[in-house]
Amino acid sequence: MQLTRFVNGFKRLETPFYFYDLDILDQTLRLYTKFLRKYGYQAHFAMKANANPRILEMIHRSGLGADCVSGNEVQLALDMGFDPDTIVYAGVGKSDREIRTALQGGIFCFNCESIPEIRIINDLASQMGKTARISLRLNPNIDAHTNKHITTGRSRDKFGISEWMLDEVLGIIAASRNIKLIGLHFHIGSQVEDMQVFEKLCKKVNSYQKWFEQHDIHLEHINLGGGIAVDYENPIENPFSPFETYFETINSNLEVRKGQKVHFEPGRALIAQSGYLISRVLYVKIGRGKKFAILDAGMNDLIRPALYGANHAIFNITSASQKKEVYDVVGPVCESADRFGLAVKLPETGRGDLIAICSTGAYGQVMGMRYNQRELAQAYYSPDL
Ligand SMILES: *Cc1c(COP(=O)(O)O)cnc(C)c1O
Repeated sequence: MQLTRFVNGFKRLETPFYFYDLDILDQTLRLYTKFLRKYGYQAHFAMKANANPRILEMIHRSGLGADCVSGNEVQLALDMGFDPDTIVYAGVGKSDREIRTALQGGIFCFNCESIPEIRIINDLASQMGKTARISLRLNPNIDAHTNKHITTGRSRDKFGISEWMLDEVLGIIAASRNIKLIGLHFHIGSQVEDMQVFEKLCKKVNSYQKWFEQHDIHLEHINLGGGIAVDYENPIENPFSPFETYFETINSNLEVRKGQKVHFEPGRALIAQSGYLISRVLYVKIGRGKKFAILDAGMNDLIRPALYGANHAIFNITSASQKKEVYDVVGPVCESADRFGLAVKLPETGRGDLIAICSTGAYGQVMGMRYNQRELAQAYYSPDL
C-alpha cells in the first residue's frame, strides 16, 4: 500500500500518532473546488470533523469558509483568518456567550434550530446594537439511511425546525428587529451513501421554496449541509468521494432562483481519507478460539468504532509474513468497547509491528480525549516525513 514509503519515517516516532498525507488532502480539495467553481456554489468546511491548525490552514487557502458548531469553533475560525463573511454557525444549544462571540465576530449567518433560539439571538443582537443574519435550519423529515447516531434529519431527531412550526417562526421573525432572515439550511446526516437521499432533499427544498414565496419571502441563500460518504472499506483504492455525481445530483434536482446562492458544509469527505492512526502492537494475546492484537492506540485516540460501531480498514504495515491470521484488534483502555476491529485478517503479527488504521482524518484526532490519563496523540504530515 502507499503508506509503505513512509514506514522508515514512522519507525523513529513514538506511537500512537495521527499521520496526514497532505498530498491526498490537496488532491481532494482541488477536485471538490473544481465542482464548486463549475456550478458557482460556495462551501464551508465543517470544523468539527478536524480542527488541526495545519489542516484548517490548507482548507482555508483552498478558498472554503468555516462551518462551526460552537462559539470556540467560531473563535478559532476567526483566529485562523477565515473571513467572517464565510463563517456559518449551527447547533441546537448555542449559549448566550457563544452567540455574543459570533455577533461580535460579525459572522455570515446563524443557522437557527428553534424558536427560543431565534428570540435569544434577537435579544442579544439588540443589546449589542447589531443585526444577526439567520437561516432557518429546517428538519425535512428525511431518513438519510446512515448510522442511527449520525442521522439528523428525521422529525424525531433533535435537530432543526419542523414544518408545522413555520407559521409561528415567520411571525416571530417579523417581530424581531435585530434579525434578518437570509435563507434556509439543511443537514440531514453524515456518511450518506445513497444519492437518492440528496435527490429527495432537493425536492423537499423546492417545495419549501414555493411555500416561502407564497408568503412573499425571497431567500438569498440555500445551504444543503454536508453528509457525503467516504469509502471506509476500500480507502486505498477509493480515496476520493463521488463529488461529480453528488454535484450533478444537486444541480439537476435543486430549483435555484435567480441570484440565489447555494452553499455546502462538507466535513468527512474532505479530510477522512488523508488521515491514518498509526500504532504499535504491544502484545499478541491468545484468547478462547481467537487471538487479540493489542495496540498502543485506544478508543481515547479514535472513538468512532466504540461510539458508532464504525469499521475502519486496518493494515499491518511492517510484517513481511506471507501467512494470514485473524485477530481482534483492540486497545489498552479499560473498556470492552475499546476495540478497532473484530476478526481482522492481517499478515502474521507480532510485538512491535506498526498498524495503520485508515480513513481517520475526520472525527478522529478532534475527538481525542485523555481518558485513563492517556496522552493525546501527536500529528505528523506527509511532506515532512
Ligand atoms: C457535522 C456537520 C456537517 C458535516 O457533515 P459531514 O458528514 O462530515 O460532511 C455539516 N453541517 C453541520 C451543521 C454539521 O453539524
